[in-house]
Amino acid sequence: MSLIVMKFGGTSVADINKINNVADIVLKELKSNKIIVVLSAMAGVTNKMQEYINNIESNERIENDLILTSGESVTIGILSSILKKRNIKSLPLLGWQVPIVTDDNHQKAKILNIDKKRINTFLEFNDVLVIAGFQGVDLSGNITSLGRGGSDTTAVAIASAVNADRCDIYTDVDGVYSADPNIVSKAKKIPQMAYEEMLEMASTGAKVLHTRSVELAMKNNLVLQVLSSITKKSGTLILDEKNLIEKEIVSGVSYSMAESKVTISGIPDKPGISAQIFGLLADQNINVDMIVQNISQDGINANITFTVPNNELNLAKETLKNNLNKINYKSLQTDENVSKISVIGMGMMSQSGVAQKMFKTLADNSINILAISTSEIKISVLIDERYTNIAVKSLHEAYNLINKK
Ligand code: ADP
Ligand code: ASP
Ligand code: MG
Repeated sequence: MSLIVMKFGGTSVADINKINNVADIVLKELKSNKIIVVLSAMAGVTNKMQEYINNIESNERIENDLILTSGESVTIGILSSILKKRNIKSLPLLGWQVPIVTDDNHQKAKILNIDKKRINTFLEFNDVLVIAGFQGVDLSGNITSLGRGGSDTTAVAIASAVNADRCDIYTDVDGVYSADPNIVSKAKKIPQMAYEEMLEMASTGAKVLHTRSVELAMKNNLVLQVLSSITKKSGTLILDEKNLIEKEIVSGVSYSMAESKVTISGIPDKPGISAQIFGLLADQNINVDMIVQNISQDGINANITFTVPNNELNLAKETLKNNLNKINYKSLQTDENVSKISVIGMGMMSQSGVAQKMFKTLADNSINILAISTSEIKISVLIDERYTNIAVKSLHEAYNLINKK
């Protein structure tokens, strides 16, 4: 008998009908397998919880995670009841009951340990475990959350811990596409992709998978399948590069509007200054992404531009302002209306001209580039947020990714 982990996202559990549909899918797989189901909250519920937190301006990390993770209790309760009505031995479990132990970095906690033995014992007495995604418990017993979209990571971490035969991520699209299908209607489905490509796509904004879930799958060599809970079409397999049949030069274009640009001008141009700035930000757990430094005309002062997640911008500003006398900069400017556009592909490693095509395409559309960053298989540029759609669409076309069917 095989063991399968099946994760269903918010749209797949958005109402009772949809949860009944999830029960149907689980039942089909149950014929020859034991199943662990991981669920998100109903679509929109976690956003609503975040709104409550914003309304009361709560900075209480522990309470905020209690509020944020509440939606998953509802969905696992409903699915498990439905399964029991259908005479299935089902056990609903919150993160702390598994337990999924995390660090105490609330709102972006990392999973430290999952009790494999206990899961196996639960499986001995039940056919299906229905586990709440997105949540864990820290070593002091407080509830933590793994960051928005974190249920994917719960599923992959559990699948890795119990050595599952498969980990299927059911969502509202039937696979990973060459661009967000909600923006580019002619995007094409990617049948297979390497972990590295998916990792770059996820970390540059393709929210179809939580970035850490891909990291974990890669580390544990766990094949992921992304598929729809509505259509029965084949999905996307994410696997080791060695098993890829074809390597595209560019396989996808992604975008993220969740970052802000910070520019610090008039910093003394001397050794150690970058280490100091980014050290201060790292101490506050702020994720810095693109970095550009230029020396000013006088050769004495420098300017540094970098990006941080929108929800960490205030903390970044505060940190820099509080340390003005240490860094000695002249001015600090921020801009939330920027967007990061990325092109990704394994074949880029052995092909020249990919970056040039990106810059030319943007130039042809009169889009100005504010910052650039690259890896072996990715090129990202920062642009004015207003041009996001046109940039994604024109790059998708320029790299010939359009679905011709
Ligand atoms: P779930 O609630 O099931 O976790 P998400 O909303 O987190 O679903 O992720 C699915 C969404 O990801 C899709 O509806 C789609 O708009 C978005 N998305 C962004 N980029 C891509 C891409 N390259 N391929 C597929 N979906 C993408
Ligand atoms: N419900 C959580 C969120 O909306 C976790 C998830 O959906 O993966 O972020
Ligand atoms: Mg998601």
